[in-house]
Amino acid sequence: MVYSYSMKKYVVIIDEGTTSTRVVLYDFVKKQIEKISALDISQFYPNGYVEQDGNEIYAKTYSLLIEMLGSVNPLEVLSISITNQRETIIPFDKVTGDCVSHAIVWQCKRTAPYMLDIEKKYKSIIKEKTGLVCDSYFSASKMAWLLKNDEKVKRLFEQGRLYLGTVDSYLSYMLSNKKSFVTDTTNASRTMLFNINTLSYDEELLSIFGIDKSVLPSVIASDETYGFFDYNGEKIPLCGIIGDQQSALLGQGCIEKGDGKATYGTGLFMLVNTGKEKDDGEGLLTDVAYTLNGETAYALEGSAFNCGSAIKWLKNEMGLISCESETERLSQSIEDSGGVYFVPAFNGLGAPYWDSNARATFSGIGRDSTRAHIVRAVLESLAYTALDLCELMEKSGGKMTCLKVDGGATKNDFLMGFQADILGFSVDRAKEKESTAQGAGFVSLIGQKVISLSDVKSLRESDKIFKPTMNKSKRDELVLGYRKAIEKTLLH
Ligand code: ADP
Repeated sequence: MVYSYSMKKYVVIIDEGTTSTRVVLYDFVKKQIEKISALDISQFYPNGYVEQDGNEIYAKTYSLLIEMLGSVNPLEVLSISITNQRETIIPFDKVTGDCVSHAIVWQCKRTAPYMLDIEKKYKSIIKEKTGLVCDSYFSASKMAWLLKNDEKVKRLFEQGRLYLGTVDSYLSYMLSNKKSFVTDTTNASRTMLFNINTLSYDEELLSIFGIDKSVLPSVIASDETYGFFDYNGEKIPLCGIIGDQQSALLGQGCIEKGDGKATYGTGLFMLVNTGKEKDDGEGLLTDVAYTLNGETAYALEGSAFNCGSAIKWLKNEMGLISCESETERLSQSIEDSGGVYFVPAFNGLGAPYWDSNARATFSGIGRDSTRAHIVRAVLESLAYTALDLCELMEKSGGKMTCLKVDGGATKNDFLMGFQADILGFSVDRAKEKESTAQGAGFVSLIGQKVISLSDVKSLRESDKIFKPTMNKSKRDELVLGYRKAIEKTLLH
């Protein structure tokens, strides 16, 4: 059947997270997500390493994709786009497409000692060229580890059959029937091999990590069409690749310099668009925000390991609440935290304190402190964590006037109101909870010339805007109390 362009109304988005693979149906005529299906991904922890099975990731993605395409008229599908967990590396055989060893996941710290060595020698070169700090988090040391320690990977490399790719690039290869092995600039900017000034792989970095360029995916723009997915003879364009945090930035409509978003999930991720100029921030990372319509924008990124995880801890380990939303009711039942502070340093303190030995603390507990005070202090700690990141962003970029938010913990109205009070400016919660998937949908629509970049701003809608109501002296007093709690935590 011959299709007419006007029949098209869906973008199918593959949202490849760390814990699950999801396929999302976005109706761009109605401007809303119609359907989401998901499957969990197995996690493996051999010797304390963190691994996943690339074959399983693809098999589950493929089955969800086929199911989604089967549930609609495939002629109505404009394109398929990908957003993904970043940094994770999959080693596979380019002839068969088979993953020969497990993927090394971004959380895996097996290369931490190696990165300490790299840091001593190349810290400033790496920061200047990649915008990243020397950490095992990023892909380069994971690739170097596989090439040095994994016999199957070594053998495949010697046979000229090895590909080492980020999750998006593995999917691009498999979905395009092994025709395209590509990644986009946002994902490439998290590998530590990509020079974000020249927007290409950097020979010096490749040589530092001992990586042969032939094993890497080609780098394309975020909105490029790089192949077609063959669905029963129907060729659906594969258009759009963007890393998950950058995708949420775009999904939140942050396309102008100074626009920022924070995602309150297990951890807290904050990104601010810095426009065409790359900014450096102490304790922050510089990423490519996106390459769209041939133009690249940059972002500053800051993250905290713990956010919603502290709420989960209250529920699962402490048994102080039976469900997450109870934190809201308990917090509202009291005037304030009664001088109780919590610092969520379960596994050290990140930016701007950088103390990996610090551990979480409560302070200011009196004989009259109750369960509600403890719970409220934990909830408030999320807002102080975001304040720390916002202040770092402001030191390096411009002044923020509004923070756009998404993620599980933003359901909490009390937290959002308190967040606005502590920041002293508005917090704007997105109507669409799936900002990450939405961003990847926008990328594909831009690539397919259905919308332009400037349309993104109006496509993002607010659910609720929380305005600050606390007076400045009260805010200053609370923030000072938190800073003192931090000092006590750092002394331990
Ligand atoms: P991730 O993608 O990292 O799994 P989500 O965006 O799904 O995270 O958010 C889940 C997190 O949000 C959990 O850590 C959970 O404790 C927290 N959370 C969920 N509901 C609430 C709530 N009402 N108040 C505070 N935190 C919440």
